[in-house]
Amino acid sequence: MKHFDAIIIGAGQAGPSLAGRLTGAGMSVALVERKLFGGTCVNTGCTPTKTLVASAYAAHLARRGDEYGIVVDGAIHVDMRRVKARADAVTANSRTGVEKFLRDMSGCTVIEGQARFEGPNSIRVGEDLLTAPRIFINVGGRASVPDMPGIGEVPYLNNSSILELDQLPEHLVVVGGSYVGLEFAQMYRRFGAQVTVIEKAPRLVAREDDDVSEAIRGILTREGITVRVGAECISLARHERGVSVGIDCAEGEPESVGSHILLAVGRRPNTDDLGLEEAGVTTDARGNITVDDSLATNVPGVWALGDCNGRGAFTHTAYNDFEIVAGNLLKGESRRVSDRIPAYALYIDPPLGRVGMTEHEARASGRPLLIGSRPMTRVSRAIEKGETQGFMKIVVDAETRRILGAAILGTGGDEAIHGVLDIMNAKVTYDVLERAVPIHPTVSELIPTMLNGLRPAG
Ligand SMILES: Cc1cc2nc3c(=O)[nH]c(=O)nc-3n(C[C@H](O)[C@H](O)[C@H](O)COP(=O)(O)OP(=O)(O)OC[C@H]3O[C@@H](n4cnc5c(N)ncnc54)[C@H](O)[C@@H]3O)c2cc1C
Repeated sequence: MKHFDAIIIGAGQAGPSLAGRLTGAGMSVALVERKLFGGTCVNTGCTPTKTLVASAYAAHLARRGDEYGIVVDGAIHVDMRRVKARADAVTANSRTGVEKFLRDMSGCTVIEGQARFEGPNSIRVGEDLLTAPRIFINVGGRASVPDMPGIGEVPYLNNSSILELDQLPEHLVVVGGSYVGLEFAQMYRRFGAQVTVIEKAPRLVAREDDDVSEAIRGILTREGITVRVGAECISLARHERGVSVGIDCAEGEPESVGSHILLAVGRRPNTDDLGLEEAGVTTDARGNITVDDSLATNVPGVWALGDCNGRGAFTHTAYNDFEIVAGNLLKGESRRVSDRIPAYALYIDPPLGRVGMTEHEARASGRPLLIGSRPMTRVSRAIEKGETQGFMKIVVDAETRRILGAAILGTGGDEAIHGVLDIMNAKVTYDVLERAVPIHPTVSELIPTMLNGLRPAG
């Protein structure tokens, strides 16, 4: 039996930084990782996908060279082996960086293997039994496998296995038209594959407003991606050309045949093989570990951080979980998850930057609203870059004059949205942003202009 001041399970987006802070405070820490240092984000999530999105953008721009007066003599080819090698190199660099950070950390013992609770203060990893008065669970999640007819009879890809491809699929059928699915759909189209997206909901990224969904659909279909929505019943079967996906849609062909299928229909937490029942730690119906506003579980001395607590599904929310727990434990702060303003991006091109409520959510709240919007065709920087697809939109509470939410779907939208996020975090009225003097020419400079044109919601 080995005793520590703290045990951290998982070297994802919260665990390593937490180990750094706890050891810095003089604690002995055991950090257990069963697979790849850096977890999902570094190995099979953000890092490889954004690296691939960059390659896809380069291919797209190369094909559009003529529009910019750039002459390419000959055809544009995508070398998938080199595209993959670039993504692998960026990922490996990040992964080894995380591992080195942990192994060099004084006071931290890195243990590789599957961790399982044996009691509220004890964890088994192979032959080792570890005990600690504080245990931090940061086990993340994995791709869900939907219970659809034929699922056991066909080969399919998920967000991890698709990264192993070094050849272009002839026709990639993406089941799931949301954040993960759409990034892969657009990048593979730009690499040169035929791509079909099949979505069960009546529209793509159904969590977003209708106008955002519609604009995203337009961006993708203009690049030649086939989009099938309202696919009530999806089934899979072997086909001589690969896999046939049966689609019970209101309109269109009843099946789509692809050489490869990517399932991107959501994620599930890695909480089913942790022995949580041995510790008495409770989960909700989806398997997320139940936590309070400070991320403490129902068992004293046990916390859950990152995707496994169902309170965020992003790297920045997992990292913020670490800051909340560390701040409360080590600095006597009283930080809470509910203080966090939701913000995220969808990395198609152009990207969608999002913060706070959607317009739909704001309307449902019953508050009096002011709404402003502006198409990217009226943003100088977008015109100069030749990237005028999309629009920006902002929703303000008419009484408090506070910004409730915004969406920027357009070139630089993932960066420009931070101007709005900062004002929301500062808890000041929108006038502060409206009167600011932004830099010209930027996408951000039109946010004050948009605020200047706010109108009462109809
Ligand atoms: C395709 C894709 C793209 C994404 N892109 C973005 C993006 O652009 N921006 C963004 O913010 N988020 C993105 N995400 C989400 C982001 O990757 C996750 O939100 C983030 O990785 C969650 O971090 P985490 O620390 O909770 O878990 P993880 O990063 O999943 O880490 C958990 C770790 O715990 C380990 N582990 C699990 N169980 C055990 C056990 N029993 N014993 C020992 N170790 C264990 C795992 O091996 C893993 O290393 C993306 C996700 C996907 C799938």
